[in-house]
Amino acid sequence: MDFDTPLAEAWIRAIAAAVEKEQSRLTELDSAIGDGDHGSNLQRGFAATLTALDGLQPTGPGAVLTKAGTTLISKVGGASGPLYGKAFRAIGAALPEPAGPAALAEALAAGLDAVRALGKAEPGDKTIVDAWTPAVAAFRTAAADGAGLPEAAAAAAEAAEQGALDTVPLQARKGRASYLGERSIGHQDPGATSTALVFRTLAEVTAA
Ligand code: ADP
Ligand code: MG
Repeated sequence: MDFDTPLAEAWIRAIAAAVEKEQSRLTELDSAIGDGDHGSNLQRGFAATLTALDGLQPTGPGAVLTKAGTTLISKVGGASGPLYGKAFRAIGAALPEPAGPAALAEALAAGLDAVRALGKAEPGDKTIVDAWTPAVAAFRTAAADGAGLPEAAAAAAEAAEQGALDTVPLQARKGRASYLGERSIGHQDPGATSTALVFRTLAEVTAA
């Protein structure tokens, strides 16, 4: 199985649905250590990607993700819009067609590089990077071991979810939560939590 145009579209649609469903939870997490808009930021952004995809005749899976990224950058004001936007644009740009598990792993790694280039966060800073980094590592390892897309994506989703949980004891060193200093400790990072949704939905659509 390759990561093709229908799968790329299904992934973006599944993220939009998951963000819609989890919007209030993401907002609650952001209310604790930020300004309470992470759920609404992503809901607005991914709802806009659905509209953008409706009018698109994609030339391949990369074009779908590039379009989604551009839409997120233009529609989301918060920090997460440009970060996720650049990530999806980078994944789109890196994705060959057809893309097997190893190629998708490298494209997802390019997405992480884009997040880090823009946000300058290191692992352990209590951000998106803390879920995305272990997810890419798990995806790569699974792909190198010969796993198919569903299996590699499931391993990545599990790693991202664990990475999000592991942000709880961390002190935020980037973004709005860093203004809280030690008071950011003891809360799960909203962005790492939404990144876990991004990887969980990838596992779901590749398994379907
Ligand atoms: P804002 O902080 O502008 O209100 P959001 O609430 O939508 O934007 O997103 C907050 C999330 O963005 C945080 O939980 C964190 O995971 C992520 N984030 C913030 N700054 C950075 C950064 N420099 N690098 C990576 N992720 C970041
Ligand atoms: Mg916020």
